Amino acid sequence: MSKKINRVAIVGAGITGLVTAWKLQKFGVEVDVFERKAEPGGAIKTVKEDDWQVEYGPNTLLLKDRLVAEFITELGLNGEKKTANPEASKRFVVKNGVLEPLPSSLKSAATTPLFSFGGKLRVLAEPFIPKSSDRDQTVAEFVERRLGKEMLDYAINPFVAGIYANRPEYLSLRHAFPMMDDLEQEYGSMIWGTFAGSKKRKERGRIERELISFEKGMQQLPLTVAKQLNSMYLNHEVRSIKKQDGKWSVESSLGKFGPYDQIILNIPIYKLNNDLVPATSEELKILNKVNYPPLSVMLLGFKKEDVKHELDGFGFLVPEQENRKILGALFSSTLFDDRAPQDMHLLTVFVGGGRQPELADKNSEELLKIVMAELEDLIGLKGEPQFKDHVYWPQSIPGYHVGYDEILDTIKNIEERNEGLTLAGNFRNGISVPDCIKNGLRLADQLAGSVSY
Ligand SMILES: Cc1cc2nc3c(=O)[nH]c(=O)nc-3n(C[C@H](O)[C@H](O)[C@H](O)COP(=O)(O)OP(=O)(O)OC[C@H]3O[C@@H](n4cnc5c(N)ncnc54)[C@H](O)[C@@H]3O)c2cc1C
Repeated sequence: MSKKINRVAIVGAGITGLVTAWKLQKFGVEVDVFERKAEPGGAIKTVKEDDWQVEYGPNTLLLKDRLVAEFITELGLNGEKKTANPEASKRFVVKNGVLEPLPSSLKSAATTPLFSFGGKLRVLAEPFIPKSSDRDQTVAEFVERRLGKEMLDYAINPFVAGIYANRPEYLSLRHAFPMMDDLEQEYGSMIWGTFAGSKKRKERGRIERELISFEKGMQQLPLTVAKQLNSMYLNHEVRSIKKQDGKWSVESSLGKFGPYDQIILNIPIYKLNNDLVPATSEELKILNKVNYPPLSVMLLGFKKEDVKHELDGFGFLVPEQENRKILGALFSSTLFDDRAPQDMHLLTVFVGGGRQPELADKNSEELLKIVMAELEDLIGLKGEPQFKDHVYWPQSIPGYHVGYDEILDTIKNIEERNEGLTLAGNFRNGISVPDCIKNGLRLADQLAGSVSY
């Protein structure tokens, strides 16, 4: 039975912290949110400049859980929801320098040049491959064993770069893609499990998938949540937290706050230090092992007449095998209307990540040259950009590496030793925006849901 909590401090206005605050408030809990920056949202950041609307962080939210859909409805954001244009269902992968559409039907799977005849036959053997006894294997080991090397190189490698900005050789299957792991564990096969498990997934709250953003971009989501909160301290960098006589207090750059029954730290794990979390130096050393690879995002606008490719899709991903200097690009103005002037295309290009960290660190001018050369080759670009912006994420997305149990166990030990302290964010239970939303809602339920007010 959890202890009754009346007052909570949340450090960091990332989406996880905001959603937790929102739900706790619904339970009648008094919540103060402290954010270092001048606006809420953390990694979710939209910028509007004249007729251009660009995303520095996430571009889309994949709606597939009833819980998240109901949350958006309750926020009152349904009327502001923007569904991706139908063209966005087409996704390209680069093979031998050409953008090839990913197969979307059995017929196109049989004829796609992305995989050889032998590679396709190898996929059909998947249901007959036995389960592995290794409970913490890399994504690469899993995919190569079950689906073969070609699927690893030309499907999963670019997919992992697109989601985690990382490499399948680095990530743990069980932690980074628990659903794939479940299919093997529960059904002995991904292919068989995908068909056989569809009823179960519906029972677990799955709804029909919808790729969305909002009229004013992704940041409209955290801004709307924040507006519904009673107490938000922006420009407050929390420097330390303390516990005295069973109550917590927070010291920010602008003063001391408290007492609180509970503190939730929603800040990236690499930001934690002795003042911010009551952990031993050994524990902090372990937490520091979480690697967030650097990533550069180039936002570029071009006249439509300067781009040979129709850009009729979501975008393209580049497999590592292709030896190129970009990870991929989103066709942002195809994805959603009103992201660029009528006669222009907006592209969002990703560079670096765990694959080529040294490229992410380059300055804007060098990066522009690299990106322009790649786009010329891949989509027949000529002409100069009509819009350009560069965002550098020195530490982008946490990579759930093999051995991540050590990180999660350490977090649990710290929490157990310090009653009333919780660490929450994308370093735990999923990195996607919908995962963070679900985690925030569940955390609030866990902390206050069993208590009647
Ligand atoms: C480039 C990029 C593209 C992405 N694309 C997608 C996508 O398309 N779809 C998708 O679903 N997900 C995507 N993601 C992932 C997703 O956006 C993030 O995982 C998620 O938004 C992280 O939320 P969080 O709750 O962990 O908090 P964060 O966003 O990490 O926020 C933490 C907050 O804490 C604040 N803070 C830090 N220290 C302090 C302090 N001492 N005191 C007070 N405040 C502090 C920070 O300023 C920040 O606001 C992307 C991420 C990136 C970086």
